[in-house]
Amino acid sequence: MTIKALGYAAQHSFSRLKPMEFEREEAGAHEVQIDVLYCGVCHSDVHQAENDWANTVYPCVPGHEVVGRVAAVGAGVTLHKVGDLVGVGCMIDSCRSCEPCHAHEEQYCEGPNSWLATYNGPMVPAAKAPDGRNMYGRDNTYGGYSNVVVVKEDFVLKIPASLPIEAAAPILCAGVTTFSPMKHWGVKAGDKIGVLGFGGLGEMALKIARALGAEVTMFTTTEEKIAEATKLGAKGVLESDTEALKSLARTFDFILSTVPEKHKADPFIPTLKRNGTFVAVGELGPMPGYNNQEVIMHRRSLAGSLIGSIAETQEILDFCAKHQIAPDVEVIPIQDINKAYKKVKSGDVRFRYVIDMASLKQEMAEA
Ligand SMILES: [Zn+2]
Ligand SMILES: [Zn+2]
Repeated sequence: MTIKALGYAAQHSFSRLKPMEFEREEAGAHEVQIDVLYCGVCHSDVHQAENDWANTVYPCVPGHEVVGRVAAVGAGVTLHKVGDLVGVGCMIDSCRSCEPCHAHEEQYCEGPNSWLATYNGPMVPAAKAPDGRNMYGRDNTYGGYSNVVVVKEDFVLKIPASLPIEAAAPILCAGVTTFSPMKHWGVKAGDKIGVLGFGGLGEMALKIARALGAEVTMFTTTEEKIAEATKLGAKGVLESDTEALKSLARTFDFILSTVPEKHKADPFIPTLKRNGTFVAVGELGPMPGYNNQEVIMHRRSLAGSLIGSIAETQEILDFCAKHQIAPDVEVIPIQDINKAYKKVKSGDVRFRYVIDMASLKQEMAEA
């Protein structure tokens, strides 16, 4: 049995997002049907819709920062019940049998098709799988820019009641993507942290690191953003200020780069302490070279990190609720999505756009 759904989709790499009717499978025994209330707009959504990673399956219904209410549950569901406020992040399933899956790090799933993304299907499509198989039985998945999603119950997160609903959405990707490396590399109270890039991810990184008790320095490109960083309790430094960078030599325990494009790590490596780590989470492609002498001389590390596990996603939702931190969001109707994409691409949006899905339901009612 299927249910009718409406979403906003890109039909090819240079098309605007437009309404698209499609069908979803009804919730199976261990699945939950969620009535979508809000969906965050992530920079990856733009990359994927425009095929920047050369792996987009069209039509593409983006959206992996989904908050909604459980509308129906399968017969075997025990974790959620109808009416619960829940979230869905970047993943909706994984192979469940590889070493990373057993270690509860599904985002590094090494199964033949890796994990099943909330949109754009399995991370490793059948054509690239070792035996040409697709264990999930589907080549594409449609994300949260829609009225309804159906997800395996153990990939559904609980949204704490004390979080503002619309602000909870970006925690599901931007929040966990910045939290997971901080947790892995053991960021703690008293640490000095640098953050590169002051967009949706950078802002979450700042707030989470501060709540962990770290001292935060934001590297950014404009004086305006320095003022914003100061307001949020961080120091701001212009990336282009070579004197300031020099004065920060051997300062940071950890630097998180959230810059969503190719960029140099080189100017920042000398600002790491001995054993310090520079982690880039924003760019999924080749990065420029760096001077390895600076890495060797102080046993520094350069690293990467991919989103976060389901357990970490729940942990950061609960952490944000406990510390009353939430991303700055601007709520938009889905009809404004193409305008929002333009602004996200220009890189000048510090807050996160969040789509109010009531606007889609309104559109459905009028159709
Ligand atoms: Zn994302
Ligand atoms: Zn796996």
